[in-house]
Formats: sequence, C-alpha cells, structure tokens
Amino acid sequence: MDPWKLIQKNFSVSELGKYETLFTLGNGNLGLRGNLEEVDSNYERGTYINGLYEVYPIEYGESAYGYAKNNQAIIDLVDGKSFVFYADGELLTTDKASKHIRELDFRKGVLTRSFTWHTKSGATIDFKIERLVSLVQDSTAIQNLEINISNKKIDFEIISILSDTPRKKGKNADDIEDPRRGSGYGKKVLTRKEELLEGTLGYFMHQTEISKISLFSGMDHSFKSEIIPEISSHSSLTDSRISFKFKDMGGPLHFVKYLCYCHDQAASDSELKNRGLSDLNLSVNNGLDYYLNAQESFLKDFWDKSDVIIIGDQELQLGLRFNIFHLLQSTGKNGKVSIAAKGLTGLGYEGHYFWDTEIYVLPYFTYTFPEIAKSLLSYRYSIIGKARERALELSHKGVLFPWRTINGEEASAYFPAGTAQFHINADIAFGINKYVKSTGDIKFLLDFGLEILIETARFWYDMGEFIPGFDGAFCIHEVTGPDEYTALVNNNLYTNIMVRENFLYACEYLTELKKSENKIYRDFTAKFNISEKEIESWKNAAFKMRIPYNSDLSLYAQDDAFLNRPVWDFEGTPKDKYPLLLHFHPLSIYRYQVIKQADLVMALFLQGKYFSLAEKKRNFDYYEKLTTGDSSLSACIQGIVGSELGYLDLAEKYLKQTALIDLNDLNGNVKDGVHTASMAGSWMSVVYGFAGMRDSDEMLSFSPRLPSGLEEISFKINYSGCLLHVKVLKKTVSYKLLAGKVISFKHYFDKIVLLSGESLIVSIQPKLKVVLFDINLQNNFDELVLELESNGIKYIPLTEQDDIVSPPDPELYLNITDSLKVRRWDCLCITNSRVSEKALKSAEIAYVNIENIEDNIFESIRKVYKEFSLNWNLGIHN
Ligand code: BGC
Repeated sequence: MDPWKLIQKNFSVSELGKYETLFTLGNGNLGLRGNLEEVDSNYERGTYINGLYEVYPIEYGESAYGYAKNNQAIIDLVDGKSFVFYADGELLTTDKASKHIRELDFRKGVLTRSFTWHTKSGATIDFKIERLVSLVQDSTAIQNLEINISNKKIDFEIISILSDTPRKKGKNADDIEDPRRGSGYGKKVLTRKEELLEGTLGYFMHQTEISKISLFSGMDHSFKSEIIPEISSHSSLTDSRISFKFKDMGGPLHFVKYLCYCHDQAASDSELKNRGLSDLNLSVNNGLDYYLNAQESFLKDFWDKSDVIIIGDQELQLGLRFNIFHLLQSTGKNGKVSIAAKGLTGLGYEGHYFWDTEIYVLPYFTYTFPEIAKSLLSYRYSIIGKARERALELSHKGVLFPWRTINGEEASAYFPAGTAQFHINADIAFGINKYVKSTGDIKFLLDFGLEILIETARFWYDMGEFIPGFDGAFCIHEVTGPDEYTALVNNNLYTNIMVRENFLYACEYLTELKKSENKIYRDFTAKFNISEKEIESWKNAAFKMRIPYNSDLSLYAQDDAFLNRPVWDFEGTPKDKYPLLLHFHPLSIYRYQVIKQADLVMALFLQGKYFSLAEKKRNFDYYEKLTTGDSSLSACIQGIVGSELGYLDLAEKYLKQTALIDLNDLNGNVKDGVHTASMAGSWMSVVYGFAGMRDSDEMLSFSPRLPSGLEEISFKINYSGCLLHVKVLKKTVSYKLLAGKVISFKHYFDKIVLLSGESLIVSIQPKLKVVLFDINLQNNFDELVLELESNGIKYIPLTEQDDIVSPPDPELYLNITDSLKVRRWDCLCITNSRVSEKALKSAEIAYVNIENIEDNIFESIRKVYKEFSLNWNLGIHN
C-alpha cells in the first residue's frame, strides 16, 4: 500500500459511484467528480462550483410563520470531462477497457487512469489519462490524454464534449429514500444564453433559471501528433462537441483539454466571458507542464505544513492523508464561501454549510493554514446581514445564523433538526475565539469577529430567561442540541455551556479592549450601541447559566428531561435498523434516551475545563452506551474523550471509523459524497485525541498517549505565529519549535518553553511520583515512607481522607490524582482491599494488595515500585 496514493486496480460497475466520489478533484472553488471519460458508465456526472446554487421555494404541505422559505441546492454544472473515442468507427465503451488502473496521487494532485483497448480492427490502444483541477488557478481543470496506437494504423477520432444536460443519477436497486442524499433540485437549472464553437475552442454562457447567476464554461484543446487532425464541431440542445479525426494514425498522440469555469455575481456577463476566455487562453499558453509543476510545488508546501504521520497502521496513514487532501480540495478560501458537508464531491446535503465548519473543520485549518480558517469565518461575517434579518423574523434581537445554508438564508425545511439547532450561533462564536486566541489576529477580531460575538450574545440574552423555579438560573428553552435524536428540549447542556462561553467571550474581549484601546472601545460601543449595563447583563446570564445536573444519578443531564425518558431498546433493535433515522418516525425516537451523535460528550471535549476527570468518566460511561453513532460526526468526538479517559482501544476503534469512513465506505453512502466533518475529525482524533492537545485553557497543552496499534504519530501545529513539531512515540514525545521566536505550552502538568530551533524529548512512560496508602497505617511503614521521600516520591495516606467510602469508586482516586496534579499512572496505591482493586484498575492506578503478599511486605512493595509497570492499561497485579 502506497500511503500517498489511492489506487483502484479492479474496475467494477457496482463501485462506480464510490470511486467517482473518492477520485473527485477540487480546489475549494471547482470540483470534478472522478467520472470516467466515456459517457456510458457513470453513477453521477458531477461538476460543481462552491457556492453556486439554485434557489427554489420549499413546498410544505402545511406551513407556518417563520419556516424557511427557500431551499438552495448546489448545481451540477456543465460537464466537460466527457469524451467519445472511435477507432475505425468502433465506439470505446468502458467494458472494452482492460488493465484498468486509476490512482490519485496526493503529492502530485493528479488523478491518473490507464487502460488498454484492443479494437475489433486489430489495433491495440494504450491510454494514460491525467486529470487535475488546478490548485493555483481556481477556474481551471485539465485532462491530458497520452494515447499510443500499436499493431496497426487506424482512423482514430476523439470527440471532446461540453454538456449542459443534467444527467440522471444512476440508482442502485437497494437505494432507499435517504434525506441526506440531496436532490440537486432535479429540474432544469441552466438556461443557455450564448455559445460558440470555433476551431479548438468552445464555450457556453448560462444563467441559473431562478437565482439568475451567470456562468461561463469553456474548453480548449492542444495536441501533438504526427498526423494533423481534421477538426469539426457540432452543437445540439444537449451539448457542444468538437471532433478531432486522426486519419491513418499509429504511434503516440498527446492531447490536452483545458476547462474553465467562471462565475461572479458582481460581474456583468461580458466581463465574465472575457475573464473565462482569458483564463482559458492563459492555460493553453502556460501549457500542461506548468500546471503539473505548480500543482506539485503547491502540494509540497501544503504537506510540509499539514501532514500527519502515522506509523504502525498503513491503512490509517492513507486514510488520514486522503482526508486531509479532501479538506484542501473542498474548502473555499475567498471569504465568500465555506465548506459543504459533502465538500465538492456530490449533491448530498445539497451543498449546504453546517456547524461542521466551525466545530470540525476550523480547528484543522486554524492550526495548519490560519489564513484559510480566517476566510471560513469571514464567510460567516459576509452573511451577518441575513442572520440579523432571521433573528428579527424569529422575534429576537441580535443575529441568528442559519443551521444550513449557502447564501446565508435558512434552508432547513425540518425545523426540529434545523433552525432549532440554535447552538450554531455559539459554535461560530467558539470558532472565532479559537482562531483569535491561537493567531492573535486582533484585526480580524475588530473588523469582524467581535461584532459576531456581540450580536450572538445579544440574541442569547434575548432568547433566554431567568427562571424563578430554577433559582433564577438563566435557561434556554425549545432548542435542539447536536443530538438530532432528541429535539426541542429545554436547557440542552451543550447549548447552554457553549452559550455561557459566547457571553464570556463578548465580555472578555470588550473588557480587554476597554483597558488597552479605550478609544477603539468607545468607538465600538458607540457604533453597536453597547452599554456597560448590557455587558454586565451578559456576565450575569453566564454566571447564572443553567447546567442541568441530576444529583440522584450524579450525572449531568443532556437536557432537563433527558434522564427521565425511557432508554431505547438497544438489544431489541437489529443492526439493519440503523441508522434509526431511516427506519423510525422522529417521534418514535425523540421520546427515548437514544443519541445520534456526541452531544453532552461533545461538551466534555470542547468545554473540558469545566469538568473534573472523574465527572468526565462517569458521564462518558453513561452517554457512550446510548450513542448510536448514526451521524458520522460522532465517532471522532467519542474517541477524543475516550483517549483522555484512557479508553485507548476504544479510541483507536473510533479513529479508524472516522478516518476510513469514506475510503472504506463504512456508511455505504460514499457514492453521494464524502463526509467532510468526519474527515476533519480524523485530524482531531490524532491531535486532540492521542496527542491530547487542548486549547481552551489559558495555555496550549498536550497529554500524549498512543494506543496499542500505533507506533508513532507526528504533526505540526501553527500556533501564535510559531510552528511546533510534535512527535509522539510509545515511550517519548518530542517537541520542536521549527519557526517562530518562542512558544510556551504544557506537557501534562509541566510548563515547557521552547526558543527558536529548540527541541525537547520527554519521556511519557509512567514514573512513580506518588504512593497512595489506602490502608490503615497501624502497620509500621515508617521505613518505607522514608525511603520514598528520599527518592522524591510523595506518600499520601488515603485513610485520612474522609471521602473514601466502600465500595470505592474510581472517581475518588481520579479526584485525588487530579488535585495532586499528577498523572494517574504515575501513582501506586498500597491497598489491602479486594474491592479497591477494581476501582484502581479502572482509574488506571497501579496497586499492590498487601493481603496477597505472604512474604516480606516491604520487599514486595519495593519491588513493585522499582519495577514500576509500563503497562498503563492493566494496572499492576501481584
Ligand atoms: C448531523 C449534523 C450535521 C449534518 C451535516 C447530520 O447528520 O446530525 O450534525 O451537521 O449531518 O453533516
């Protein structure tokens, strides 16, 4: 397995759709599905432009005030990938191609296909077709055909097509109604306004039927061969074709097709056409090699900054690279568009942008290419006007960003799992804070970010209420959290805790500004009409925010009602009934404790600073069992929290699910597009999961630990203008400051400062630091204690602590290690109780049970702590 290439060796019609998605090429603006060149075999011929959509009214059987009015659907554009090949009048169809291989090289940014065609007339034709979507010229795609004709000379014809006829999606017999698929509108979207065919050049000008967006699509060609072809062209209602007839042809033929797509709502049609023609002309003049080289050098820089190396699991390595490559290909970088849930690979989810961007994709870009993170956030700012209108429409102050959208208007037709996910506002605020804290980009904050923080805080303050029945707590009612299997609830913990942060960010940045830039502060507060009183009111709401907790169960509650619902009958639900959303009415799901995707567990991750380790463990243990993972956004978050809690095998399983979801088509729907949030989630699973990075405390920190299946992970983090290389091995971790003057961060509980070029290797093996005496100290342990002290090891007599009860709970031990600020696997517990063993094991604390020791107790204890086990997962047994 080559970890830099996705290779398909065997062609099969049943996998057409899957490979079209996987072999999609894109540059954040333009996306070309990996269709074969021959028009006969395709699942869905797809060419998309990020943010180019058709808008049409949503038809409700029964509508109500404030429902989203219009849908927006990404358009399948003019297809330029297609060709028809004739040899002595015989048509090439895919079934005639032998030795068929396709490979996508992530370092070259090129999809290469090769096959051989033995024609009926006795010729052998070898094809090598390269395709790229330029990463340096975002309107442009190129197909390079290297054809070699042997055995005999033939009449060979290449017909190059530009087709504006929407192609029906191939339907598999087992396809069921799936709301995630996306219709791509389905009606005729593009009206032809102008066309030209002249020599090797052809183009169309189109306009979208309803939204009236203009589009230029053009093709031009160049070729090198001994025979000069006869060129002719033909246009019909369905497409434009240019034919190149090579008479009596043998030997090599090089043929290049240049494609160009331009749209710009601000430009007139003639400007657009000129731009398209000039880009096309530029491509032909630059020539293929220019773009191949540019592609490679662009990607060299890209991988230098963002590669994640995984040693120990080749498939995972490939999965990670494939995912990162697709993130690059799918993400808009001009501040006017974002990243769709399916990237630029298919019509699934209609090309809409969700919270996936801020919570899943943004961290990856913030820490690798902060300028792209900034452009994603700038897109949100670009739709703030629409968000203001929407808040007003829903009778609220401030702004309400749409749950799903392209143009800024709400496009979710099903409000319980759409508009009601108000948390999107707080997710965006969270993303802004993360970006600003990690880059120090105050200009962005002042120009755009702060306004969003203020206006979202205003929205929340207006929407929430102080409820006397809850001791005056600030409550947020009738919302849906990330878990779409529980809808329209009061006080969703995730939402409330994120809103609390939203309030605090607005207060914190304004307070800072007042201190440091009083003039700007005054201008700002005047412009947005903010009073000290309003800031105080946000602080008060944050302080009084209701965080639902059930003290009988000692559990945080996903919402006010969640823990009082019956638990879903998991045992009685056969595997083929998942995902539940495709087999049960929403109401049959909503009334149970059953979770689609990490919700409270997401809060444990994003807002981990508010939960003790023991709380995380207890709540994770409870909610994990209820989580179906029916959303691809779940696995990575469960894995990250699992890593923190020492469930390393579980975390590794989740990492694989996240990283390979598309490559191995784990959900069976990759034909409709990739899962970009999950792709970014695989980066998060490595960086936040196994390297244990956290960025929501005052200081960046790492708590690295590898699962058994991995030997090494390494990656680079761009933080505060510094480039930090982190390499985690089984026994050590190394940190190196590659660029930047100085960086401070924490490694577990220790602060590390690195100056430019400096590196540090730290052991991450357990090292005995604390011995907990969970026994009655009547025995005389003085000698042992002295020995420990002289070795710099603390001893803590637990029996003196009041809160040890029987049977002991792992949390008690976790609370102790937490408060001592020591890793739990750096502790050894001396106990005489069998029941404690279980709790200690589960808390990952090594132990010696002196009851089991017949000979000299001191010697046994000494032996254990001297040979302190390296096995983190098991604890120490006698
Ligand atoms: C998930 C949402 C997500 C959307 C788009 C849904 O299945 O539940 O959280 O935003 O997919 O990825």
